[in-house]
Amino acid sequence: MKKYDYLIVGSGLFGNVFAHEATKKGKKCLVIDKRNHFGGNIYCENIEDINVHKYGAHIFHTNDKYIWDYVNQFAEFNNYINSPLSLSKGKLYNLPFNMNTFYQLWGCTTPTEAKQKIDNQIKEFGVENPQNLEEQALSLVGKDIYKSLIKEYTEKQWGRKATELPAFIIKRLPVRFTFDNNYFNDKYQGIPIGGYNKITEGLLKGIEVQLNTNFFDDRTYYESLADKIVFTGKIDEYFNYEFGKLEYRSLRFETEILDTENFQGNAVVNYNDLNIPFTRIIEHKHFEFGKQKKTIVTKEYPENWTSEKEAYYPINDEVNQKKYSQYKELSLKSKDVIFGGRLAEYKYYDMHQIIASALNKSKIEHETK
Ligand code: UDP
Repeated sequence: MKKYDYLIVGSGLFGNVFAHEATKKGKKCLVIDKRNHFGGNIYCENIEDINVHKYGAHIFHTNDKYIWDYVNQFAEFNNYINSPLSLSKGKLYNLPFNMNTFYQLWGCTTPTEAKQKIDNQIKEFGVENPQNLEEQALSLVGKDIYKSLIKEYTEKQWGRKATELPAFIIKRLPVRFTFDNNYFNDKYQGIPIGGYNKITEGLLKGIEVQLNTNFFDDRTYYESLADKIVFTGKIDEYFNYEFGKLEYRSLRFETEILDTENFQGNAVVNYNDLNIPFTRIIEHKHFEFGKQKKTIVTKEYPENWTSEKEAYYPINDEVNQKKYSQYKELSLKSKDVIFGGRLAEYKYYDMHQIIASALNKSKIEHETK
């Protein structure tokens, strides 16, 4: 008999939710992570009494009451609503695109005026079957919004021309004819009071965790420890890059402590212009309405990905998707391994989606036993 029922490779949200559910069912789990901390990309570091989102802004939102109740078991959530601003050619605009933005762009004061303006622009610049991100954006919002708030940000973020990017990336930008700056449409939203580590601690309570532990350093040994493996790392690495490497977009974060109380008056400010090398500045204290004397800001620089860098955004273009489907096929044949999460599924998941996916896979796993 092996020492553990499950070896969970990666202490991110997928692995931790899976480990929590398995433990509840009486299974013995070991969670290993190559980093020196748990929690994956939701990890927060407390600096100057401020919870710093180490791997970029994480704002929890969901429409699903079950998922909302699930996370609320581990922490109480505050009433933070994400309302980012975008700085373009020296002027600030509200996001997502809403009546405030239209007023700032064109001076429109009514939804009828704004709709007319956008419809005219779509007629003039839109196309019937958008083949790339630029055509998609022009067909959804017209030229002015595309030029002021989308084109340069997007090209900076992805390091490619908007005409060479797939259209689906932009489909998640909502357009609204009300004066509502809430970035998300979901019913539930907030930041855990005390930071995301409270959620991770709750999930991992009573579970053995080994940090600074890389599965690939001694794969045979780790595989011998448990009946089943839950793998949340890169799927191509798991299969020794048999079909070639999957590509990602990376990010570099530059964090500073500033001797001022309030730097930008908002948690998230996007920087549209291409001549500014970062895409956004996060001022962490505003996620929790902090009143500390100092503030901490992080500039987010998009970067080309190489294998020693963190993999943030999968590049879900045709070539990579094709490669991924070959890996996926192999994964379906690996009966004693469960693959889950952003890196193992090569998919840009939000937190609520990862939790739903982990709960779903746990359910299937424990029902069939
Ligand atoms: N985007 C944009 N302008 C902005 C913010 C976003 O054009 O000010 C586009 C951009 O193409 C980006 C996509 O919308 O890749 C999704 O951005 P979002 O900030 O919603 O997602 P995140 O990068 O935080 O996952």
